Amino acid sequence: MPQSFSAIEITKDEEGQHAKLTTLTEDDLMAGDVTVGVEYSALNYKDGLAMTGKAPVVRRFPLVPGIDFAGTVTSSEHPAFQAGDKVVLNGFGVGEVHSGGFSQMARVKGDWLVKLPEGLTTRQAMAVGTAGYTSMLCVMALEQHGVTPASGDILVTGAAGGVGSVAVLLLAKLGYRVVAVTGRMAEAEYLKSLGAAEVIERQPFGDKPKPLAKELWAGAVDVAGGNTLANVLSQIRYGGAVAACGLAESMNLPTSVAPFILRGVTLYGIDSVMAPIARREQAWQRIVRDLDLAKLESLVSEISLQEVPAAAEAILAGKIRGRTIVKPG
Ligand code: NDP
Repeated sequence: MPQSFSAIEITKDEEGQHAKLTTLTEDDLMAGDVTVGVEYSALNYKDGLAMTGKAPVVRRFPLVPGIDFAGTVTSSEHPAFQAGDKVVLNGFGVGEVHSGGFSQMARVKGDWLVKLPEGLTTRQAMAVGTAGYTSMLCVMALEQHGVTPASGDILVTGAAGGVGSVAVLLLAKLGYRVVAVTGRMAEAEYLKSLGAAEVIERQPFGDKPKPLAKELWAGAVDVAGGNTLANVLSQIRYGGAVAACGLAESMNLPTSVAPFILRGVTLYGIDSVMAPIARREQAWQRIVRDLDLAKLESLVSEISLQEVPAAAEAILAGKIRGRTIVKPG
C-alpha cells in the first residue's frame, strides 16, 4: 500500500481553479530523484497568487502549491543526498509547475535542493523561507556593489512584509542604518524592534516620480516596483545601488535613464527562483551567520494546511505581517 499524506491540491475546470485540502498517496508524487518528508513550508506572496488564481502562477494541474519547503530526505537516488539529510528548497518552478511544499511529502530533483546549513532547524529555514533568502540575495548584491554601513542610509520598501522585514533585520545586524518604508504606520514600533532607525510612510513614494530628486539613500532593497521603485531610483545617492526583487505595487517601472547616466546609479535585478546552487549555498551560510534567529522568531506566525486558503487571501490584501510558516503535519 502506498503511504498516504495530507496536501493542498489545486485543480482546474471550466469554472477556473480550485484549491482544497486532500489526501494523496506516494503514487501522486511527481517525478524526481529525492523524496522529502516536509516538516515546514511557508506562505509567500507568490503562493497567495497561486492559491487564489489571481495570477497564472500555477501552470500545471493538478498541482500541490508551496514554492519552498524544508524537511528530511526519506529516500534518494541522487548522489549528493541520502535518507536522513535535512534539506531546504526554494523555487526552481516548485509550486508552479512541479508539486511543492503545502504537503507532508514532496518528490523533487536533488539538483534543486540545498543541504540545510549547520545551526539552522527546518522550522528556522522556513521562517527565513524564500522571502528571507531573497533578502539575503539583495543584501549580497548591495555588498558586492561596495555599499557599506559607512556609505549612508539604506532604504527598505514594503518593510512590514516578508522580504522587507528580513531585509531590515539583516541590514541592521550588519551595521547599516536602515530606513523602513511602510504603508502600515501602525507597524512602526515593530519595524523599529527589528532594527529600523527610522520608519517613513509609503505615501511620498506613490506620487508621480521625478527623474531626479534629492539624494538620500546609499542603497535600497525594493519589493514594490512601480512608482515606488521609480521614486527610490531618483533618490539614490551618486554611485549607489538598488536591489529590486518584487512587484508588490506594480510590474511597471515608470522611470527615466537620469539616475543611471547622471548619478551612476545601478539597478540590480534579484531572482531567487533560478539562482545557481553555489549562490544559494552562500546565501544560506550567510543567513546562519548574519541573521538574528531569535529576533526572526518574533516575525513568525505558524499555520496549518487548513489555514492556508484564508492566509493566502490575507497576504494578497497586504494584511500579513512578517513571516507565515506552514506546518503540514
Ligand atoms: P508580502 O506580501 O509579505 O510583502 C509585500 C509588502 O509590499 C507589503 O507588506 C507592503 O508593505 C508592500 N506593498 C504592498 N502593496 C504595495 C503598494 N501598492 N505599493 C508599495 N508597497 C506595497 O510579500 P513578500 O515580502 O513575500 O514579497 C514581496 C515581493 O517580492 C512580492 O512582489 C514577491 O512576488 C517578490 N518576491 C520576489 C522574489 C524573487 O525571486 N525575485 C522572491 C520572493 C518574493 P507594508 O505593509 O510595509 O506597506
